[in-house]
Amino acid sequence: MNKSLEYQFKQQLASYLDTTAEHIYLYYKGRVALYAILQAMQVGKGDEVILPAFTCVVVSNAIKYLGATPVYTDIDPDTYNADIAGIEKAISPRTKVIICQNTFGLSSNVDAIHRLARQHHIYTIEDCTHGFGGTYKGKPNGTYCDAAFYSTQWNKPFSTGVGGFAFIQNEMLEQNLAAINSRLERPSVKNTLSLGMLYFVREKLLSDKCYWHMISLYRWLSKHQLVQGSSSGIELCSLTQPQHYFKAMSAIQMKKGLQNIKKLPYMMQLRKHNARLYNDYLLKHNKTFVNPQLFPDHAFLKYPVLVWQKDKVLTLAEKQHIPLGEWFCSPIHPVRENWETWNLHAKDFPVAMEKSQQILNLPTDEKNIEKILQFLDNINEFLV
Ligand SMILES: *Cc1c(COP(=O)(O)O)cnc(C)c1O
Repeated sequence: MNKSLEYQFKQQLASYLDTTAEHIYLYYKGRVALYAILQAMQVGKGDEVILPAFTCVVVSNAIKYLGATPVYTDIDPDTYNADIAGIEKAISPRTKVIICQNTFGLSSNVDAIHRLARQHHIYTIEDCTHGFGGTYKGKPNGTYCDAAFYSTQWNKPFSTGVGGFAFIQNEMLEQNLAAINSRLERPSVKNTLSLGMLYFVREKLLSDKCYWHMISLYRWLSKHQLVQGSSSGIELCSLTQPQHYFKAMSAIQMKKGLQNIKKLPYMMQLRKHNARLYNDYLLKHNKTFVNPQLFPDHAFLKYPVLVWQKDKVLTLAEKQHIPLGEWFCSPIHPVRENWETWNLHAKDFPVAMEKSQQILNLPTDEKNIEKILQFLDNINEFLV
């Protein structure tokens, strides 16, 4: 392991979080960072962890792998984050941790949630997988809670292909974490090769001309497990923890990260700029738009739109080569059935259920969104 590479990368990350490199911990994926933090908080059997019913199943998995119980709360339709009243109601004597999330890059009420948690001697973790680089009330996302985890998967604020890290500023938790991290496996040669394949495919993907060919190739390679996928099948349909799950970040990921983080300031500007254009369009056409008051705190990793007949819109998008996203197709994305396995009872979360049926996301990373605005015009009748 190249120590200085690791240190350089941590320093870059730390500079965005107003901290120093020693409070940053690197992992193979964001979910692994969460799993490590939960262990540092000594979460185990009998404990409850509160989280929004608008999450990724890998978050629920990390809780379940430790024998704890996920307790969901419904979301606020404006922010797609949990509201405090819902969290307060969900607190029980068994609650050990509250996870708040900055959905699409928007943190909300994290300061108040943290205060509430303090009163009850509960830890807080921010799921900052969408919000790295952004701020809430002037402070970097992830700095209000006891700990935060971030993802550098290729859809996230900046990419290492797959990857993640934790940020913790708490002596006791960091001491616990040191022992836990000593058990991390090193990524294998096969991991490194399939990461290399991921970078190759992704870089080709970025050149417009072959995007749709490469998407097909990527799907084929993933199916045959030749390229590093974001999740393995068993993570999406069972509570079986994959082998070699608890892995460190490899040098090749750090190298990619150091390259890609350079573009982040520009990307942040571009995302907000595009979000304004989407907002203008939706406002003008009397469709659901993001409350402009939320803009200062919103990093707009993706721009949420609501549609009737999602399947139809997705088919049209594929035909017209519009890269529409499908987050969150369910309260525990991307799982569409057997939610009870993850302790989710759909009827308890009417807002999350309705939104997950309607929501699609527009890309905010494109330099020119004319084509996407044109597409919105084409599907105008389906927009909510
Ligand atoms: C992507 C994502 C994760 C997991 O990140 P990985 O790096 O893929 O493990 C967790 N929570 C949310 C909300 C995410 O979007």
